[in-house]
Amino acid sequence: MKLTLKTLAMTAILLGPAPISAQTNSSYDRQFISWPVYSGDDLELTVNDRGTSFRLWSPKAQEAIVNLYDNGHTGKPYSTLPMKFDPATGTWSASLPEKLYGKFYTFRVKNDGNWLPETPGVWAKAVGVNGKRAAIIDFAGTDPEGWENDRGPGMKNFTDAVIYEMHHRDMSMDPSSGIANKGKFLALTEEGTVSPLGEKTGIDHLKELGVTHIHILPSYDYNSVDEANLHENQYNWGYDPQNYNTPEGSYSTNPSDPATRVREMKEMIKALHNAGIGVVMDVVYNHTYRLDSWLWRTVPWYYYRQEEDGSPSNGSGCGSDLATERSMCAQYILDSVLYWAEEYHIDGFRFDLMGLLDVPLMNRIRRELDRRWGRGEKLILGEPWAAAETAAVPGTVLASKEHLTELDAGVSAFCDNTRDAVKGDLWSEDAAGFVNGGGLDADRLACCIKGWASGPESVVKSPSQTVNYLSCHDDWTLWDRLVYTGDKALRFQRCPPDLLRQNRLAAAIYFTCQGCLFLLSGEEFARTKQGVKNTYASPLEINQLDWTRAWANRQLADYYRGLIALRMRLPGLQDKTAAAGSRVLAGTSPGKDCAAVLLDNTGAGSPWKRLFMAYSAAPEAVSLTLPQGDWDVLADAESSFAWQKPRAIKASAPLEPVSALILGQR
Ligand code: CA
Repeated sequence: MKLTLKTLAMTAILLGPAPISAQTNSSYDRQFISWPVYSGDDLELTVNDRGTSFRLWSPKAQEAIVNLYDNGHTGKPYSTLPMKFDPATGTWSASLPEKLYGKFYTFRVKNDGNWLPETPGVWAKAVGVNGKRAAIIDFAGTDPEGWENDRGPGMKNFTDAVIYEMHHRDMSMDPSSGIANKGKFLALTEEGTVSPLGEKTGIDHLKELGVTHIHILPSYDYNSVDEANLHENQYNWGYDPQNYNTPEGSYSTNPSDPATRVREMKEMIKALHNAGIGVVMDVVYNHTYRLDSWLWRTVPWYYYRQEEDGSPSNGSGCGSDLATERSMCAQYILDSVLYWAEEYHIDGFRFDLMGLLDVPLMNRIRRELDRRWGRGEKLILGEPWAAAETAAVPGTVLASKEHLTELDAGVSAFCDNTRDAVKGDLWSEDAAGFVNGGGLDADRLACCIKGWASGPESVVKSPSQTVNYLSCHDDWTLWDRLVYTGDKALRFQRCPPDLLRQNRLAAAIYFTCQGCLFLLSGEEFARTKQGVKNTYASPLEINQLDWTRAWANRQLADYYRGLIALRMRLPGLQDKTAAAGSRVLAGTSPGKDCAAVLLDNTGAGSPWKRLFMAYSAAPEAVSLTLPQGDWDVLADAESSFAWQKPRAIKASAPLEPVSALILGQR
């Protein structure tokens, strides 16, 4: 999530009503320490042969009840059950001898003498339309055929991760997608879809591109889209979590049927797994859609950080920072991640504003995922920053950029250093990076190649922690940035060849950096959002992928395809160990705005023992002196598939204007 505009624009709505008496952070934290923690897997709802039972964790509630409903969103409860308190676990229980499949429920707790409004609890795994009531469904009925044998591709099958970030509506809404289930989970189950110009779209496009994972923008139940009145123009990224453990209803074909969203999300995941593609889910455990959330109504304040004066902490820009350092909050986040991995076979998690979560929790999540699925099989990546300071308990070590080396080597973070070095400082609109005329900082470029994992400016302990990217949902697309810093007379009108050269060079740089790779959907065909940066609620015309552009910029897309395929053959770039930086054998600057790096590429699966990678942002060709011996051209200014039929060169080579030249030595 972005730090500024999106959140500021949303803050007024998100703060919502605050029927809350303030207590100071320190006194409240002291109070919480003595609370019993409950880690049973029967929290909130269990249905088995003994019937239906409810168990709500709310240690300081004075009373609690369960309301039972026939309907997911209207009418009065048909029954209300009192709940019984167990002081040893801090939980409230009630049960009935029947299996209540098809029914809905909410809880209410009495706190400080007042009954709080209804909540479906914090563990609703199925919900009615708009997520106001939890639903009781038989999960066995939500599994697609063959689900028991469904497996994500796992990292065993990949030498590297190339993650493609997408929003369900962006991917399929435009008529040019040729996809029938527009804006739905099912869109990615459709094979054989093409644009009017014959270009592959949807899942076939992903297969052709060669990405290893897709990253889906928030797909748990969020608040900002009215599921009961869906229409074309409703759009939101979804960084406003409501029910953390339920899929979003607007992406299902029937949000009023609680099982449909569950089944259809599983069908999407299964289709991707069948295509050999893993699924990384965006998880927003740093804040809720507003302070008066289901979490707050279940256990007032417990899940939230407070300032000393009692006001809610606002490091998220949404006034509802979660207190991840508290025992039950940490347990909740961990269990939620494990639930998605187990029930939905999710292959990785992208933590929004990870800088608001704490290091011990992130490391614990890494350990538990590794223990169940094998070391590194499930990806963890996150944004190592926050919107502002957060009121964590003093002494809490946050998973922010300055603490990345305290994280497990298997917890990765978005690398703003490389992003800004290549295309320009994010926070300065007119700033250009290396590819668009900002000049060469050779030391900085060398740090990029090493994934910022070694040398005096290192920020991570090994390249496994670095996510290289040039565009994501936040801010300008890469293309829009290049347009803005390029010829302003042509702004957003067409695709001038010089900007396409800059785009190819930019791609060649980050695809030859050590670390993981990440790109915004459509970056490979010069996606534009018409210069709009913060499109979290922008109209579809701004957000949806125009697949005719994929045809118009097919050469650029081919260049990305070739780079992905080439990278999979270059162990020197995939090395994730702390020693990877020592593979950089030498760096030179063969001319103004030119840099070249010699790299040790020994390792399984590659015929090339050394790589010589040169990058030029200069307007004229430069004669490049090659290190001794014969070299194969693997990629040049125009083609990244040259490695398929490598031509041999020696001694010197022309380095074209604004281009990369990647050579391999056998
Ligand atoms: Ca929703």
